[in-house]
Amino acid sequence: MIDLRSDTVTKPTEEMRKAMTLAEVGDDVYGEDPSINALQELAAEMLGKEAGIFVPSGTMGNLVSVLANCERGDEVIMGTKGHTFLFEGGGISALGGVFPHTLTNQPDGTINLQEIEHAIRSNDDHHPRSRMVILENTHNRCGGVPISEKYTNEVATLAHNKGLLLHIDGARVFNAAIALNTSAENLTRNADSVTFCLSKGLCAPVGSVVCGSKDFIKRCKKIRKQLGGGMRQAGIIAAAGTVALVSMVNRLADDHQRARELSSKLALVKGLRIDMGTPYTNMIFLSMEETVRISPLELLDRLKDEGILIGKVDNRQFRLVTHYWISDEDISKVVCAFQEIIK
Ligand SMILES: *Cc1c(COP(=O)(O)O)cnc(C)c1O
Repeated sequence: MIDLRSDTVTKPTEEMRKAMTLAEVGDDVYGEDPSINALQELAAEMLGKEAGIFVPSGTMGNLVSVLANCERGDEVIMGTKGHTFLFEGGGISALGGVFPHTLTNQPDGTINLQEIEHAIRSNDDHHPRSRMVILENTHNRCGGVPISEKYTNEVATLAHNKGLLLHIDGARVFNAAIALNTSAENLTRNADSVTFCLSKGLCAPVGSVVCGSKDFIKRCKKIRKQLGGGMRQAGIIAAAGTVALVSMVNRLADDHQRARELSSKLALVKGLRIDMGTPYTNMIFLSMEETVRISPLELLDRLKDEGILIGKVDNRQFRLVTHYWISDEDISKVVCAFQEIIK
């Protein structure tokens, strides 16, 4: 199968499987798993933070980051298209009594600075306490668009001046760094905390890392335990995460190149429209015009018959994500299949 539904479908590489076989392990709840400790240190170093903590998923990474900083009734400012608002089961409210104060994401994934400033509550007993701002980089629902260092720093300055914290949901922050030709550290330097996923374009089977100050990570560790995310000999999976950070970051440029190649060819297929200026990184969002005779579900079925899976995000809108397991040959096959089906 040529699976373009998401980069979460990536399976571990040979190098990862080997590292997993050989991984030294210990009880991580006691802090004694050398493979996990090595991954956490490397991640913190790459993001310019004091410490890191391995968590089972990006969702848990964002959740512990919010819970470690917020009390019940606190408010977190985030985009209307943000992953934490849309796709994390309302966890911050269900488990932390924290509620989202959503502001419109602009097409480039940012939130207008004046709107953020205006949304921050004054110190008044009537008001909830504004505690954090969450930015997402790359911004998934805005097309995988990378968010600049300059904008991130402006938000950090604004938040800090008003006594708020900045968290970056950097599930794909390494894609952002590669696309902007900078380091992930430059994109996260002024944030108080960052979560990133090992299990997406970086190909590790499981896991995310949260990075921040030592004191913050200590609080995260307690909350991770409360959430049932304290794992034991999880160095087996962390070992793959270290391979991901060492070997899989720079090659993300290949995924971006293949996304551009695929998008430029699909743009020529009559009846297809590439959306939102994509691809910025490894995601193509596209729509099928009303003039196309087959239905969106028929398109999915016909592609599946050709061994191709793509994601459906809206009635006539689809998402195609390139990753390590998508080759140049796959790109050609996908283009041919679309040409054949939509003619
Ligand atoms: C994938 C993703 C997450 C976390 O997802 P998990 O599936 O829980 O690892 C968080 N934020 C964004 C933007 C994502 O794309």
